[in-house]
Amino acid sequence: MILLRTKKELESFLSLTKNNDEIGLVPTMGALHEGHLSLVSKALSHNQKVIVSIFVNPTQFNNQDDLIKYPKTLEADIELLTQISSELAIFSPTVEEIYADGVKTKSYQFDGLDKVMEGEFRDDHFNGVGTIVEMLLRLTKPTRAYFGEKDFQQLQIIKKMVKLQQLPVTIIGCPIVREPNGLAMSSRNERLTKSMRNEASFIYKTLQTAKLKFGTKSAPKVIEWVQEKFDKHDSLKLEYIEITDVETLTPIQRKQKNVKYRAFVAVYADDVRLIDNIALN
Ligand code: AMP
Repeated sequence: MILLRTKKELESFLSLTKNNDEIGLVPTMGALHEGHLSLVSKALSHNQKVIVSIFVNPTQFNNQDDLIKYPKTLEADIELLTQISSELAIFSPTVEEIYADGVKTKSYQFDGLDKVMEGEFRDDHFNGVGTIVEMLLRLTKPTRAYFGEKDFQQLQIIKKMVKLQQLPVTIIGCPIVREPNGLAMSSRNERLTKSMRNEASFIYKTLQTAKLKFGTKSAPKVIEWVQEKFDKHDSLKLEYIEITDVETLTPIQRKQKNVKYRAFVAVYADDVRLIDNIALN
């Protein structure tokens, strides 16, 4: 395992790779769990070299409290990654190293992908995500970069950004890894009490039933049903439920043949904000 703390160290690591070595990049914010590790395993199976970046990017947090409370566990992360492969490179720079010219966020034309759901509820979040991922892609120059469907909207935004900036990289989406009770794995789950972690399995159970209902009912009926289920739940507060076209992320008007749809939710469990989604057809 090689730990790279600066852009200079990253550059010298890259200069030692062979010309035809394919490089896989897995961008993360650390506090790693099996969801992240599934991306790393996929990257290892496709590429000769794999870089895992660990960087808690301040420009994508609209809520300072969320940024301060975000778990930072670099030593444990390194240990976990070492168990998977001794061949990995970890790029874990400081904020000052990345934003040497000041913390600035670029503005992208995401064609509305950034205006719904997470974009609506988290101001400028996706410009922050686009800025850091573009920077990481330019620094590490990977053949492929790996992102989880857990953050499905982010995955679509990154594909769009790569197209806009004409970056020579293939973006690979990876399925959501869940806890045994169905809760989507997330670094934020660490902040849940044990009983809340159990309660939160309700999110995926509700999405699974919504999927079944979507087979026979209209989207507004399914949305209404989900809202009612959460209204009756004491400790989980639904922020949004949206059913959208998977490509454009525009909210569904009426079901169309040959269009793929997904349902997306954001839910507060105490003060911890959780997101999840499910393919509907
Ligand atoms: P994060 O550290 O939360 O920024 O996540 C880093 C990457 O891991 C993102 O591409 C996420 O979508 C992905 N990821 C996080 N949780 C999961 C999960 N439960 N299953 C699959 N991918 C995940």
